[in-house]
This record gives sequence, C-alpha cells and structure tokens, in this order.
Amino acid sequence: MHYSTLFFDLDDTLYPADSGLWPVLRERISLYMHEKLGFTWQEIPSLRQHLYQTYGTSLRGLKILYNINEQDYLDFVHDVPLHRFIHPIPHLRETIQSYPQRKFIFTNADLNHARRVIKTLDLEDCFEKIIDIHTIAPYCKPLTPAYHIAMQEAGETDSRKCVLIDDTIENLAEARRLGFFTIRVGRDESPEEYDARINTLSEIRRVLPLDGKERL
Ligand SMILES: [Mg+2]
Repeated sequence: MHYSTLFFDLDDTLYPADSGLWPVLRERISLYMHEKLGFTWQEIPSLRQHLYQTYGTSLRGLKILYNINEQDYLDFVHDVPLHRFIHPIPHLRETIQSYPQRKFIFTNADLNHARRVIKTLDLEDCFEKIIDIHTIAPYCKPLTPAYHIAMQEAGETDSRKCVLIDDTIENLAEARRLGFFTIRVGRDESPEEYDARINTLSEIRRVLPLDGKERL
C-alpha cells in the first residue's frame, strides 16, 4: 500500500513522553476538578480513571456528566509555561518535512494548545492543518467517528492510505482496526495493537520509508 496521508498525535508524540509536561497538565486537570467542581482530592483519582475509561478523555466525561464549559476547562488546563518542558528536537523538523505525504496534527487537545506546542518545538510549518478536539467534537480519539472526521478533514477516503503516529495504545488500536497503518511512539507495550514502534519520533524513518510504499 502507498500511504498518502500522515496523522500525527500531538502530546507525548511530537515531544518525548518524559518531558514532564503531561504530569503538570494532569495536575491542572485535578486542580480544575477540585477548584471549579468541588471534588475532594481523595475523590479525584478514581473519578478521573472512570472518566478516561468511559468517555475517552476527562474533558468529554466532565462535559457529559457536569456540563462544564469546554473552553474554560481547556484554557485552565493548558495554562502552563511550555518552554520549561519542551524544546525543539534537533533534525526533527527536517525529518518530518522530508515526507512528501500530506501531514496533519490529529489531537484530543485544542487548537490553542496545539499551536503553542508546535511553535515551541519549532514545527510550525510542518503540518497542513491541525485537527483538534473542536474539529472532532462531540467525539475524541479513540471513538470511531473521530477518525472518520479526521479523514474527511484531510480529504482522504481510503483508510488504508492513512498512517497514525501516536503514543496512546487505545488510539492506535482503533486506527488499526479501521485500516490505518499504525506507529506507536513509546515503550514496547501491547505490540498486537499496532503495526510498528519507535522510541521517539526522530526514529520514524526506520519504520516509514519516505515513499510510504512498504509496511515494515
Ligand atoms: Mg498523545
């Protein structure tokens, strides 16, 4: 198969998962639940686990169950000095740009956060479009309609021509079920759920040739 469309996840995919950013964002989510919704610190971990497993993201669960204001939540959670955690990665920009395929960000985060992240990483001109949580609303990865919307946004009708590069196993498993070629960024874990694995995005050439012709 000749791949023509590459979808890149944002957080913990474009930058290393050990950047320290996610734990800070996770704390901000808990702080939001404590400060704005009045949950005790004891209640929050199990509730978050429930929201993630049942609704895909904390945001989606909080919207459905507690009718929170989405933008208020996103602004609060992402109010973090990104440059303290993430930095441009040498040669990554050239590596991504070397692919002739169409390239999109496909993320459960929102456009503001995505723009800030790719600016901080100096990857601003690598992607044709950012497909964010608002674009795929009311869904999110790994819900099936989110992938269909992403394909529509990319003008792609054949899922077998699509590649998803993501750190989250659930997101990869669903994409793979739909016919995408899937590349996990991260440790070797649940290898039956994706097609190829790299430790960091800088290694992508190892599993995805520039012409996108072969599955390795
Ligand atoms: Mg991610």
